[in-house]
Amino acid sequence: PLISCRDLYLSAGAACRNAHAQFSSALFGRSMASESVTRFDFLVIGGGSGGLAGARRAAELGATAAVIESHKLGGTCVHNLSCVVKNVMWNTSTHAEYLHDHEDYGFEGAKAHFNWELIKRKRDAYVSRLNQIYRNNLDKGKIESIHGYARFTDDPEPTVEVNGKKFTAPHILIATGGHPSTVSEDDVPGASLGITSDGFFELESCPKRSVIVGAGYIAVEMAGILSTLGSNTSIIIRQGGVLRNFDALISSNCTKELQNQGIDLRKNSQVKSVQKTDKGLSVKLVTKDPDDKDAQEKCDTIHEVDCLLWAIGREPNTTGLNLSSIGVKLDERGHIVVDEFQNTTRAGVYAVGDVCGRALLTPVAIAAGRKLAHRLFEGKADSKISYNNIPTVVFSHPPIGTVGLTEDEAIKTWGKDSVKVYTTSFTPMYYAMTTRKSQCIMKLVCAGKNEKVVGLHMQGFGCDEMLQGFAVAVNMGATKEDFDRTIAIHPTSSEELVTLR
Ligand SMILES: Cc1cc2nc3c(=O)[nH]c(=O)nc-3n(C[C@H](O)[C@H](O)[C@H](O)COP(=O)(O)OP(=O)(O)OC[C@H]3O[C@@H](n4cnc5c(N)ncnc54)[C@H](O)[C@@H]3O)c2cc1C
Repeated sequence: PLISCRDLYLSAGAACRNAHAQFSSALFGRSMASESVTRFDFLVIGGGSGGLAGARRAAELGATAAVIESHKLGGTCVHNLSCVVKNVMWNTSTHAEYLHDHEDYGFEGAKAHFNWELIKRKRDAYVSRLNQIYRNNLDKGKIESIHGYARFTDDPEPTVEVNGKKFTAPHILIATGGHPSTVSEDDVPGASLGITSDGFFELESCPKRSVIVGAGYIAVEMAGILSTLGSNTSIIIRQGGVLRNFDALISSNCTKELQNQGIDLRKNSQVKSVQKTDKGLSVKLVTKDPDDKDAQEKCDTIHEVDCLLWAIGREPNTTGLNLSSIGVKLDERGHIVVDEFQNTTRAGVYAVGDVCGRALLTPVAIAAGRKLAHRLFEGKADSKISYNNIPTVVFSHPPIGTVGLTEDEAIKTWGKDSVKVYTTSFTPMYYAMTTRKSQCIMKLVCAGKNEKVVGLHMQGFGCDEMLQGFAVAVNMGATKEDFDRTIAIHPTSSEELVTLR
């Protein structure tokens, strides 16, 4: 009877939705102590961005919902130095840059002592408040919150066990996110003396000497924050540049900007071993230029390191879920395989967010969770997110904003002759008064006869806030002519994007 009512309400819209909610609540209650399995309409594993958003929307649409969380509500975005904590630290480091410029703007004698402990205390309090807000939101939405680690059982109907209790639902969402990759002691002796982005969150003081390993956006952001706040920072990259999956202009410019900022960039290098000494860690590196066949490997050691941070990628949280027992397929890296509607290979089991391994960003997980709820509990059969034109900001110094195809991707899709690229680089007006200088670079990638803007990439002062509005235009299919027709706002950096020639 549950299935037929669900099917009926999927097609009949709001009236039946309410009837279904009343029906299922009456039949099962929110939790039936007399039964060994507690049933809901929607059972969510993972109380992070995607899981919470999906559960709340489902509850708003009349479903009885529960969220299982093994750690703290909020997930990676709130804890583990992700969006929230990282951005407090990025804002903090931006203040350090402004302080540097104060004298240039006429504020004489503007010296300040930076207190890491103070901002950490305030940041931790903010995160606790957010945690409480998430809890209150669940309570307000009458969503059951279950604390513990979830694992699928071997029962024929998909069933989840938490602390010895069983839970099930006709719709189960997996939103378990991911965790930072680590290096084994076999590969790099002493590797475990380092931390990951999760450990950065715990640092009680600003490290004096930092070594960041990795070339992705997390490595770039960490290196920028630490260096700007006064840590002598090195970044170790295996190849010649950072952000290699971004547009080539962004990759080369960001690599240059890290060096401009005073970060010691070690290209073509890898960590060989790490040793603990009385004065901190000794990080041994090996460097070899792959383009120079005759080049010998060079060894070097960075001494007295008090923060070695591995930022070498992320892995999905799927290993402990016993997914094989319910026939949910994983890809070769352990991500859950889903179709465009977030369906896994087992009917009635879905996945959203980082655990699926695509566009690892908070708003993507949130949007996918909400769209799924509308499909399941509002009968909106076509409700799904588009993975095209997802705007992305890297909180580097200066920040990067990017949306759409890189130049190389556009050429692959449209052919070289159909792609036209417009670029500019300039010094933003802010730096006219300062001794500290930083360039802004911009690129528009246009395709086809009408020069549709298929990619927009920039790095410079204010590019983080500049991107969202332009992403709307790109998503709507704006052409270069549409950009040109828009009157510029003067004097700003963004005006350059509507005056490119
Ligand atoms: C350092 C860093 C910086 C980032 N910065 C940004 C940024 O600036 N902007 C942005 O948009 N994104 C950023 N991200 C990415 C963003 O944090 C993730 O994309 C987002 O949190 C993914 O949401 P999710 O719901 O998929 O997973 P999560 O938010 O990770 O939530 C998963 C939850 O599931 C729980 N869980 C896992 N397994 C189980 C289990 N078996 N049982 C019960 N609970 C379980 C976990 O404890 C966790 O709370 C950053 C990530 C990192 C690591």
